[in-house]
Amino acid sequence: MGSTKDLNKPEIFSEALVNATLMQDREKLAAWLAEDENVTEHPFWKWYAYFADRLIDMAPKPEHGFQARPTRTVAAPKIGRNDVCPCQSGKKFKQCHMDKEESVAWKIGSPTPAIRAMAVSKIIQALPISDLDKIPQEKASDVVLTEVATAYHAGGRLDDALLIVKKVLDGDREDPHILWDYWIARYAEWLVEADKASDSEQFLMDEYDAPRKVAAWQVAQKLAAYYVDIGDSENAETWVDTALEGNSENPFNHYLKGLLLHSLENWEEAEAAYAKAKELSANFREEERAYMTPLVEEAIDLVKNRKSLDDESVETETESN
Ligand SMILES: [Zn+2]
Repeated sequence: MGSTKDLNKPEIFSEALVNATLMQDREKLAAWLAEDENVTEHPFWKWYAYFADRLIDMAPKPEHGFQARPTRTVAAPKIGRNDVCPCQSGKKFKQCHMDKEESVAWKIGSPTPAIRAMAVSKIIQALPISDLDKIPQEKASDVVLTEVATAYHAGGRLDDALLIVKKVLDGDREDPHILWDYWIARYAEWLVEADKASDSEQFLMDEYDAPRKVAAWQVAQKLAAYYVDIGDSENAETWVDTALEGNSENPFNHYLKGLLLHSLENWEEAEAAYAKAKELSANFREEERAYMTPLVEEAIDLVKNRKSLDDESVETETESN
C-alpha cells in the first residue's frame, strides 16, 4: 500500500476507528490514512476510499450504543491482472500480489476486542458530554458504560456516574474486560464523594458477604480504606487484618496497615509497613508501581519526621490487582 498509516498496528487501527467515528467522512478519513490532503488525486485513491468506507462501516457508533456490527458490505476495488499492484512495488499485479491475496496488507480485518475497547474509550473521551446522554444504554456493553461513567464523573455529573456503575455492578459481571476490583473501589469512593458514606459502607459489606468476580480480601481492602479514611481505627484494623490474611503479598494492603498505624502514631511499625508496601510494589505492573511509589514515599517521609497524616494530601484510593 505504501500508506504511512499501518492498519496492522493495533494503536493505528484503533486511532483509525476513532477518526472514522468522529469524522464520518470518507474523504477526510482517506486523507488521514494516506497522509495526503489531495488524496483523491493519489494513484491509490480508490484503495484509500475503500479503507475509509470499511472503517466507517466497522467503527463503533455512539447512536447504537457503540455496537459495531457492519451495516453494509464494502467491496474491495477490482484490480486487473496488468494493473499496477496497489502495494506500490511498481510491478504489475499479476507479478506481485495477485496470487498472494491472503498476505496483502490492504486486506483489512475486523478489529480485535482490545482494539475496539481502545477506540471506544478514546471516542467517549472525545465526545461532548451532551452526546453521551444520547447513547442508548440498553444497547451498550459494560465496557462502554464504565467509560461513560468515567466521563460523567470527570464532568461533575456524579449522580449519573453512580447510576451507571450501579447498573454495571448489579449485572451479571460476565465481561472479562472489566476490572471488577477497580469498579467496586470507584463506586464506593464516588458514593462517599456524593455524601452517601453509609451507602458506601453498606455496599462494601454486601460485596464482602457475596463477592462476585473478585476475591473477598479485595473487598476487605476497600473496607479497610473506607475506615482508614473516616478515621475509624477499630474497624480499620479489623479489615486491614482481613485483607492481609487474604493476601499478604499485596502492597496496598501493607500501605493501608501503614496508614492505620501512622494515624495511631505507632511510628516504627508504620514505617515498617510502608517499607513492606514499597518492597512488594516492585512486583506490580509498571503503571501500578508508578501510582503506588509516590504515595508510599510521601508517607514514609512523614512518618520518619514523626509527622501525622495530612488528610488533604494523603490518598487512600485503592488500586489493587
Ligand atoms: Zn504487490
